[in-house]
Amino acid sequence: MIKYNLTCECGETFESWFSTSNEFDKLRRKRLITCVVCNSTSIKKSIMAPNVSSTTKKNYKIDKNAKDVKKKLVEFKKFVEKNFKYVGDRFAEEARNIHYDKKKSKGIYGKATSKQTAELIDEGIEVSTMPWVDETEN
Ligand SMILES: [Zn+2]
Repeated sequence: MIKYNLTCECGETFESWFSTSNEFDKLRRKRLITCVVCNSTSIKKSIMAPNVSSTTKKNYKIDKNAKDVKKKLVEFKKFVEKNFKYVGDRFAEEARNIHYDKKKSKGIYGKATSKQTAELIDEGIEVSTMPWVDETEN
């Protein structure tokens, strides 16, 4: 048995079971399939919705986006590692040195607590935080 969603020219949709896909065409040609609302025989088979739950679809989308974001982050991480100097835990200190001494620096990156970051921003020091991804992880 095959279940089809049928659509009438009047816009009415309904479901019907057929033993084979050929049976639908046969019955339609013989004008034996009629709309329950307007009695029209102009019935079309609509495309059957695949049996995918909305949750599955949603999760798939999220995963895909997460992958894209991670890819971007990995690219950005590589860029930072190549162009910035790693200062580790001395990030806040180094950022201040650069800011106040007007030192020419190619830029630094490192670790700072959220409190340190907030302090730096208060002092007018440009700081951006980003999630640091581990590219070896799947
Ligand atoms: Zn109809």
